[in-house]
Formats: sequence, structure tokens, C-alpha cells
Amino acid sequence: SPSLAVGIALLGTTWHATGQVGSVTSVVHRVAGTAISLSTAGLILFAMDVRGAITSFATVPWDWAAAIVCAGLAILCLNAIVAAITLSVHRRISFVGLLRRGLGVRVTAEGAMLSLAPIWVIAIDFSLVLVPLLGITTLLVFRSTREALERSHEAIHDPLTGLANRRAFFDQLDDALTDARPSVRTSVLIMDLDGFKEINDRLGHQIGDALLIAFADRLERCQPPDAVSARLGGDEFAVLLMNHVGERSVFDVVQQLHDQLAEPLVVDGFPVTVGVSIGVASAPDDALTARDLMRGADVAMYKAKRTRSAIELYDSCERGPQRGRINLLNDLGDALRRHELHVQFQPQVRMSDGAVDTVEALVRWQHPEHGLVSPSEFVGLAEQTDLIQPITRMVLHMATSLLATAASTDVKLAVNISARSLQESDFVDDLFRILHETRFPADRLELEVTERALVTNAERTRFTIQRLREAGIRIAIDDFGVGYSSFQTLRLLDVDRVKVDREFVQGLLTHPRDRLIVSSLVQLAHDLGLDVVAEGVESTALWDAVAGLGCDVAQGYGIAVPMSFPELRRWLSSWQDVVVGSPLPARAPAAI
Ligand code: C2E
Ligand code: CA
Ligand code: CA
Repeated sequence: SPSLAVGIALLGTTWHATGQVGSVTSVVHRVAGTAISLSTAGLILFAMDVRGAITSFATVPWDWAAAIVCAGLAILCLNAIVAAITLSVHRRISFVGLLRRGLGVRVTAEGAMLSLAPIWVIAIDFSLVLVPLLGITTLLVFRSTREALERSHEAIHDPLTGLANRRAFFDQLDDALTDARPSVRTSVLIMDLDGFKEINDRLGHQIGDALLIAFADRLERCQPPDAVSARLGGDEFAVLLMNHVGERSVFDVVQQLHDQLAEPLVVDGFPVTVGVSIGVASAPDDALTARDLMRGADVAMYKAKRTRSAIELYDSCERGPQRGRINLLNDLGDALRRHELHVQFQPQVRMSDGAVDTVEALVRWQHPEHGLVSPSEFVGLAEQTDLIQPITRMVLHMATSLLATAASTDVKLAVNISARSLQESDFVDDLFRILHETRFPADRLELEVTERALVTNAERTRFTIQRLREAGIRIAIDDFGVGYSSFQTLRLLDVDRVKVDREFVQGLLTHPRDRLIVSSLVQLAHDLGLDVVAEGVESTALWDAVAGLGCDVAQGYGIAVPMSFPELRRWLSSWQDVVVGSPLPARAPAAI
């Protein structure tokens, strides 16, 4: 009886839906979906003149078989369509995309079960003895179907938190953009937990995992009803927001979400507070494709992290140094291949006799559209990707091969090394190979490393630094004083030189405190046997001030700006003429 079939199916659906989700609307949707698909199938059978019992024939006639197949297909398609409609209305995402992705799974999973239905009818009619046999077959089919469904679920979900994964998020974003209406702003939020790594390291991975699960849970509960959230990997999450014209601004929505997410989470029974940095990019203003939106949100998130501002909209980055440079990272890959990167040199001068002590190599990027891009704009970005490795090697190669031919052999070369290089296993070998190729003596090379780089993973760094120093390479701590662990760095690592950050140097003349700090720093460095470079010496007054405090070397626009290699050669010979015979120390050379 058709009504009995519909009734049983409805009962089963209701039971399944309540057991699983517990929401009334979802039960209504499922029951309605089943009723629609079953009654449509019934109507098809009716229309194709299939009436009576299939078992009344000795063999099933062709027109019946065709009708049954049509009815079965109708059930499959309608189920998929109704599910896609429900989801797309609920989440306001593309119906077509959902259908496209959902149909394949449904056809294989439900199709397998559905195709057993006619066999059941015939078997029961033929002999009840067949029922247990068919039961086993059905159970096996059901199991493998469920496994297939689980696998397809795993393919698009993050196993730890159950949120969508990067791939699924990308697809949904793509769909949302494809059928975005003009009245809707599609925004991507990329969020990164602050200090997650420390929690993971200190409290263990189990707590780390529990924290991610708790965070994902909170995210799902706090996000706006039609948003989609995903875990992109590690401690990085993303949310897809649909903002309708006339609703609250995107920033307000994000602000509220941020406030809720920043509340302490209960992990394993104790409260844990994690900050979260959120970057936001919106279509159509910031970008039009999923890729560019993700990248824009990523740039904004990176800025939020750097400036500790918690939330950044991409358009605030556009006004800043990353103006219109959403593809900067992409371009950077090409830049390496197209040789758009080159190196400039800035001299560092010994204060005792005015002689040139070191020249520092500074990377430059001549971008075909944006012109000269400063390293502070792209080095940080490159450090977040693997691009920093070829850049470091390129700078090392260029600088050493140029300087190897320079006339004065006692001028040292300083190269900036990014945080990550010291932790790379093959950095030291690559460096030795480059020195060998360019015939540049190791004891003329100095590596400038920032404090931050030195204290993360100190054990490994110490080992690397030891190897470098054994080869005669000198190590300088760059931007000394503005990091957060200057004393710790000096405690843990043997280095040769510190470069006092220009923030301190430039405060010398106006801030008595800066004067005291620099003077103590110089004293401390000297006691530890290190020499001191003052950065940012822009005037004669500053030269005199740093000389008075006992700094050994000075660098700054007042002495020379960064210049190309031919310019450097000219500068070196003219500088020689200036300083020869001028009585120093403690007086600025006449050229300043
Ligand atoms: P840094 O190592 O502190 O380099 C010195 C920066 O200060 C240079 O900026 C230089 O042009 C600037 N400078 C020098 N004298 C003065 C002065 O008297 N006044 C002022 N206001 N500035 C002065 P630049 O070339 O833009 O480099 C910025 C930063 O980018 C560098 O800071 C360094 O951390 C990084 N960087 C540059 N080249 C490389 C590289 O090849 N590899 C890596 N990893 N980082 C690099
Ligand atoms: Ca430097
Ligand atoms: Ca510096």
C-alpha cells in the first residue's frame, strides 16, 4: 500500500531527524522532503499505468521496469533537490553548487539502497525464507554506503573540529560569489588565535586540541545564522559572512563576534583565554574571486596580528603600505624568476678612525607596476611563506659575488637573515656553498639577525650559530632593544655585535632616558666583549652623541644612504679621501 510506505518512511525520517539534530525545522524539512519524493514517485507509477502488484506477473514487463526505474530516479533527484533547497535557504548559499556537489554522493549512496527495494518485494512474495538472506545483503550494502558517506564527509570536513575544511570553504565561497545578489556583500573573515603555539607547547597537544574544539564550538554558536565557518588548518579559522544592505555593518558584526570569541573558554575544566586576530575582506569592494578574497583577508589578518589591533578590514591595508598589492606574494614569486630583485649597500663606519667597517646589503624590489617596493613590505610577507628562502639565498649570492671583487679587502659584508633561515636544516650548507662559489671569505661575512629570530627555538639556533661562528662568520643582533628579550638573547647566545635600534639612537638628543639606556647597553655589550653599532645616525649631532656614549660603529643616512654597487665603489674611494688625515675619534668626519 502506497500510504503505508509513505507512513513508514515518514516515521523513519522523523525518528532519524530527531535523534540526530533535534531541531523541529529540520524534522519538518526531512519529512516534507520524503513525502514529496515518495508521492511524486507514486504519481509517476500511476501516470505510467502501473497498477496492481508486481508479483502478479511471471516476469516483470518492460514498461513496468521502466516505470519503476523512473520512479526511483525521481526519488533520488527530488531528495537531492529538496536537501539542496533547504540548505541553500538556511545558509543563503548557491543552490546549484550544493546540488552539483550533493548529487553524486546521493546517487551512489541512496541509489544502492533504493535499488534493493523491488528485489525485497519480489523476494517476500516468493518465499519468506529469503528474507534473512536479503536482510544480510541489505545490511552490508547499508554499511558500505554509510562508509562511503562518511568518507565523503571527511573529505570536506576537518576531522578535529567537525567544521568545514579549507577545500569545502573555498567551494562554498566560490558558490556564494557566483550567485551573489547586488544587495549582498560577501565577506571572508580569516582568524588566527593569538598565542596558541605557547599553549600547545606548555600545556600539551591534548589541551591544544581541546582548545581548538572548544573554539570551533563557540564559533559555530556565535556566528550569524547564515554564516559558514571552517578550520583552514592549525589555529587558523575562516568565516563566510553574507551581509545584506540595510543590516548592521560588516565591522559591527565582526566586532561582536570577536568580543564573544575572546571570552575565556573552558578547556578540561579550567578557563583559558586566547586572543584572536581577524582579517576581513569583502566582495565586491576588495576583490571579486574567492582566491583574491582569501588573500585579502589574509593580508588584513596579518596586519591585525602585527599591529595587535584584533580586527582589520582589508581596505585599511590598502591605504597603508600594501596598497593594491593583493597579488604581492604572487608577484614576488615571479620577481625572483624575472630578476626584479636586486641589492643595495649601506656603509657602516668605524667611529674611532672613520674607516669603513662593513657594508650592509639591503634587498630592493623594482616592481613593474608599483615601482620600488620596500623590503619592510615584502620581507615580512615572504617570511610567512617559503619564498623567503630563495630571497635570502639570492641576496647572499648577489652581495658576496659583488663584494668579492671590491677593491678594499678589509671591508666586511653584512647580510640580513630572516628568522626562519636559522631554523632551516640546509641553510648553513647552502651558505657555505654560496661562499665557495663566489670565493667570498667567510671571515668577511656578518649575518644580521633580529632578536626574535634568535630566541625562538634557542637550542637549534644556538647550534646553527655555533657552526657559523666556527667557520669564521660573525653574527650581529639587529634592531637590538626593541624586541622583547634582549637580555635573554645575550644570555643564551654567543654573538659578535649588537646593532642598537635607531628608535633609541634617534631619541638620544631629546630623551634623557634613551641616553641612559643606550649608555648602559653599550657598557653591557662591551663587558660581554661585543662591539656596538648605532643605527639611524642622521646628523652630526647624533654622530657626536653616539661617539660620546662609546658606540664603535655608526650607520645612517647622515653618513650614506643605501646605494647600488657602482655607486658604492665611487663612494668608498671618495670617503677614503675625506677621512684620511682628519683627526678622530669623537668628532664627526668632515663629510657628515
Ligand atoms: P634593518 O636591517 O634595520 O635595515 C636598516 C634599514 O634602515 C634600511 O631600510 C635602511 O635604509 C634604513 N636606514 C638606514 N639608515 C637610516 C637612517 O639614518 N634613518 C632612517 N630613518 N632609516 C635608515 P630598508 O632597506 O627599507 O630595510 C628595512 C628592513 O628590511 C631592514 O631593516 C631589514 O630588517 C629588512 N631587510 C632588508 N633587506 C633584507 C634582506 O635581504 N633579507 C631580509 N631577511 N631582510 C631584509
Ligand atoms: Ca639589518
Ligand atoms: Ca636594524
